[in-house]
Amino acid sequence: MDSAEKILNLVIIGSGPAGCTAAIYASRAGLSPVLVAGPDAGGQLVTTPEIANWPGEADEPSGFELMDKLQKHAKKLGTEFISDKVVKASLKTDPKELTLGSGRVLKARSVIIATGAKARYLGLESERAYKGKGVSACATCDGFFYRGKDVAVAGGGSAAFVEALFLCRICRKVYLIHRRDGFRAEKALIERFKDEVKAGKAELVTPAVISEVKGDGQKVTGVHLEFKDGSARDLEVSGIFVAIGHDPETALFKDEIETDEQGYIAIGHGAETATSVPGVFAAGDCADRVYRQAITSAGQGCKAALDAEHYLS
Ligand code: FAD
Ligand code: NAP
Repeated sequence: MDSAEKILNLVIIGSGPAGCTAAIYASRAGLSPVLVAGPDAGGQLVTTPEIANWPGEADEPSGFELMDKLQKHAKKLGTEFISDKVVKASLKTDPKELTLGSGRVLKARSVIIATGAKARYLGLESERAYKGKGVSACATCDGFFYRGKDVAVAGGGSAAFVEALFLCRICRKVYLIHRRDGFRAEKALIERFKDEVKAGKAELVTPAVISEVKGDGQKVTGVHLEFKDGSARDLEVSGIFVAIGHDPETALFKDEIETDEQGYIAIGHGAETATSVPGVFAAGDCADRVYRQAITSAGQGCKAALDAEHYLS
């Protein structure tokens, strides 16, 4: 029987560390889970060149390699992966109904939402105009196009430093532009970037706000910066990589379950990963505004599978 016709025990939405780990645990618990992989198979990590903090992986695999392993592990244990995305969710019904992009409707007794987060942009009109023409949110994906050129990275968190360090390997000069003098990034990443500054490959520009992305109509040619003291500076760059964080990918569920004011799914309704709707659980970056790490997402995915198992039994 096709899985669209029968009522499934569990559908997992998302194939990042949270979704894949939930799938591994749910498969081993005999729940025969179905996982909808979504628009980004493997989640946010697949675009990052090296993962240095996943326990047991001292050789620092690429994000793609790590997520490939997690997905293969879940498939080997019997999780059915569907390469599609959920476009509509009716979670308060019994069974719950999830409509996919193809029009297929999955019915399930329980659901784990592990939809993660999506890249945030600065919100400038000029940034929108040059998206894909020099403005990017992924150095690993697009950095190659800027080989030997000068580029800028916006942000002061770990992602900005990871992107900037990656770009230092291929670009002529990398400017890291941040709105404050203090950084949220891991100390080790900041120190590595400072070595690039000493080597003349990079420059820290703070406290500066990008007020305009400049271009010739076809491509980015620079950025206009404004400083707290009222001064301004123009940088000539061919690319601008925006790494200013992510927003939870939860708009689809906002009328179905409780979220906080920033859109993070509220959990802890009884079981640790339980949402406001019985039988619906959430794990990873979509429900975690604090830690947002691959390993914490995976851990929460494990908890969500155990909570779903308990609910179903
Ligand atoms: P995500 O990885 O965001 O996965 C979300 C999944 O949901 C995706 O598969 C997507 O396709 C799917 N999805 C979304 N919407 C739908 C839908 N409508 N239907 C179906 N599926 C959907 N953390 C570390 O611990 N170490 C690092 O070195 C590290 N490096 C990073 C580097 C960068 C550049 C970035 C951006 C983040 C990094 N992080 C790192 C953080 C880490 O990537 C996240 O914490 C982690 O990926 C979150 O996992 P997740 O499973 O919750 O969500
Ligand atoms: P983050 O830690 O939230 O940092 C976002 C940065 O962007 C902050 O410096 C913030 O400035 C800045 N910012 C936010 N909105 C801005 C705006 N509108 N204009 C200008 N600047 C803006 O996000 P992240 O760097 O993407 O990291 C997300 C999570 O993934 C974190 O938990 C991080 O630890 C994890 N991660 C880990 C690694 C790793 O190697 N361990 C690598 C990447 C990511 P303020 O500081 O002023 O708020």
